[in-house]
Amino acid sequence: KTFKELGVVDVLCETCERLGYTKATPIQEESIPVALTGRDIIGIAETGSGKTAAFALPILQSLLENNTPLYALVLAPTRELAVQIQNQFDALGSIMGLRSTLIVGGMEKIQQSISLGKKPHVIVATPGRILDHLESTKGFNLHKLKFLVMDEADRLIDQDFGPVIEKILKFLPRERNTFLFSATMSSKVESLQRASLRDPVKVSV
Ligand code: AMP
Repeated sequence: KTFKELGVVDVLCETCERLGYTKATPIQEESIPVALTGRDIIGIAETGSGKTAAFALPILQSLLENNTPLYALVLAPTRELAVQIQNQFDALGSIMGLRSTLIVGGMEKIQQSISLGKKPHVIVATPGRILDHLESTKGFNLHKLKFLVMDEADRLIDQDFGPVIEKILKFLPRERNTFLFSATMSSKVESLQRASLRDPVKVSV
């Protein structure tokens, strides 16, 4: 199907076309219409399936209707993955003046605090470092957050980020949409799902 057929607005369809995304991938076809209705999603999909755009497009579409800072938080297990996610968000959001920031370990906290102070729309982060900012950066909070994404949840769990994510959840509003993507399901991923998602639709490709 085309992105238009999935309910994506024209400006974002045009961006997809420009990036060479002529047709939606299976995970995009399953996830995007569900996400656009405001439901939580648990998506079983591998890297390379197009899952980043599957969650980025509904978030960007919602942002177009409601231009608010500190709108989405994406948690990724590694710095490399976080960089890739941010690059895709920036490419897809280029026409709408999207502001994104990367908050990962091994980089200057001060610089990160300044970039958070500039009120980005989207934060792509590894769990430890964003928790650190939530606990200690003055003036920074996510009370208005609308979307939480946990990408590669199985790897987040493997790296023992489970307890860190539980702490992060305490800083987030309950009224939000949450998307959890994982290549595999396990009892630990299920317990993360129960702690963070509300009546999710399961999408598997
Ligand atoms: P991901 O699984 O999100 O890491 O995406 C894998 C690659 O597929 C990325 O380089 C994307 O730019 C690309 N991609 C995502 N969606 C599409 C699409 N609908 N058509 C062609 N390429 C895509």
